[in-house]
Amino acid sequence: MLALQGTAASAGTAAGVFLYFRRGGPARQGRQAGTPESELLRFQSALSQADLQLQELCRETLAQAGEECAQVFEIHRMMLQDEDFLDAVKDAIRQKGAGAEQAVEEVSRTFSEAFLAMQSPYMQARSADVQDISLRLLRLLRGEEEPQLSLPFPVILGAQDLCPSETIRLDKTKLLAIVTAEGSQNSHTAILARTMGIPCVVCLGGVLSEELDGRQAAVDGGEGMFWLEPTEEVRAHIQEKGMDLEARRRELERWRGKPAQTKNGKKISLLANAGSIEDCRAAVENDAEGIGLFRTEFQYLGSAHRPSEEELFSVYRAAVEAMQGRPVTFRTIDLGADKQAPWLPMEQEENPALGLRAVRLCLADRELLRTQLRALYRASALGPVSIMAPMIASLWELQEVKREAQAAREGLRAQGVPMAEHVPLGIMVETPAAALLSAELAGEADFFSIGTNDLTQYTLAADRQNGRLGPFYDARHPAVLALLRMTLENARAAGIPAGICGDLAGDLAMTGALLSMGISSLSVPPGMVLPLRERVCTLTV
Ligand code: PEP
Ligand code: MG
Repeated sequence: MLALQGTAASAGTAAGVFLYFRRGGPARQGRQAGTPESELLRFQSALSQADLQLQELCRETLAQAGEECAQVFEIHRMMLQDEDFLDAVKDAIRQKGAGAEQAVEEVSRTFSEAFLAMQSPYMQARSADVQDISLRLLRLLRGEEEPQLSLPFPVILGAQDLCPSETIRLDKTKLLAIVTAEGSQNSHTAILARTMGIPCVVCLGGVLSEELDGRQAAVDGGEGMFWLEPTEEVRAHIQEKGMDLEARRRELERWRGKPAQTKNGKKISLLANAGSIEDCRAAVENDAEGIGLFRTEFQYLGSAHRPSEEELFSVYRAAVEAMQGRPVTFRTIDLGADKQAPWLPMEQEENPALGLRAVRLCLADRELLRTQLRALYRASALGPVSIMAPMIASLWELQEVKREAQAAREGLRAQGVPMAEHVPLGIMVETPAAALLSAELAGEADFFSIGTNDLTQYTLAADRQNGRLGPFYDARHPAVLALLRMTLENARAAGIPAGICGDLAGDLAMTGALLSMGISSLSVPPGMVLPLRERVCTLTV
């Protein structure tokens, strides 16, 4: 037996036959480059065909796997329209006399390396997307078919790395698990695997190859483990864990439809976090009472241009409708730092996490905020909606947001556009300053939602993206808990609700403590709702 430790990318277990993924035949070499004009024409034609293929892929993916997955291919379409990329390829053809294939290969390599060299793991993972679009263009230029992705029987699929477009086209009914030599937890392939519930381990190194085809293998995606020729003991462990997961899923069903109430009668709202319509549907399926945090920025990140009011409204409407009367709390844009939208040129910042992000960006670029507020208020006519602003650190910031909100409402009213009479306007408490000022802020905000992810980062001066910080980034740190307690006490004194929407909300070991501190709601990923309800209902506080 060979046991390999990789990086856990999607939880779940599997055992079965290993198959190595081959990416088509060897590239056809040796084509003479034509004149620059003819090579430019070939490149343009490949670009148009690639865009058509991606549109089709978006449609298929939306139907099969939902909006979040489909966005991956919207991002690919956007990358193919990126002016820097297009100019670099055209320059290589015009100035170096390169053939279209060579130009695409060289420029993609440079772009892919540039992404890999970036600090943010999210941006590093975009290098796989560049490789994906480059392969698509090369296939089109060489007149090659897309690789055959039908699987002969259920397999554990191994690969050097898998492009998102390959992952989405694999036959899910025969895909037991995915293991890759390279890749990262943040890659779109890992995100797709998690969304589709396929166990996945990445970063296993160079052992995977087609020589292993047909051998028995096993995977524990949650632990990041891959076994080749697993012993009886490992197989038994995998089987048992799989059965445990299934039994656990069935057991949790009994909490469906029950209120989240402790044994001694303390009741809270159990909400879900979402970033897409698909997540809203998952929230309903998992019996969440509403959406406690809708991260609106993903729509901005997945768009090739600044989204219009209509585009924003159509997503907000779909989210409100998907929730079937349950409340939705939309957070205004939290762009900046690790979330850079390609259409929003931002100056290079020394410390982006401390830079012009979230509400600061909205106050610097008022049109961004005004357009979003109008779309949000319009959605409030269709179901219960609340709005909250992220990264508030001073009272004046909240007052400015309120002024803009008031102006947006007056504008809509003057135009006779319907909206709800009352739309609560709250804030995320995720800077130490907001926690320390929570008594004053509670006088102006309708509710607090505590973002423990950023609150931990800023309180402990520990970058939340830096995996090497390990125990130094700790949401249970006494300093973080002291700020949390202070915020909850000030909210109670002012009579406004205060919940948690950061990852600490799903820390089951902390549920009792959070309830005792007087939390009014917890908002967690949809899959956590039932486990958390079970936890609340079996506690006495
Ligand atoms: C947080 O900071 O805790 C939070 C919920 O917001 P995000 O993770 O989107 O920054
Ligand atoms: Mg945050």
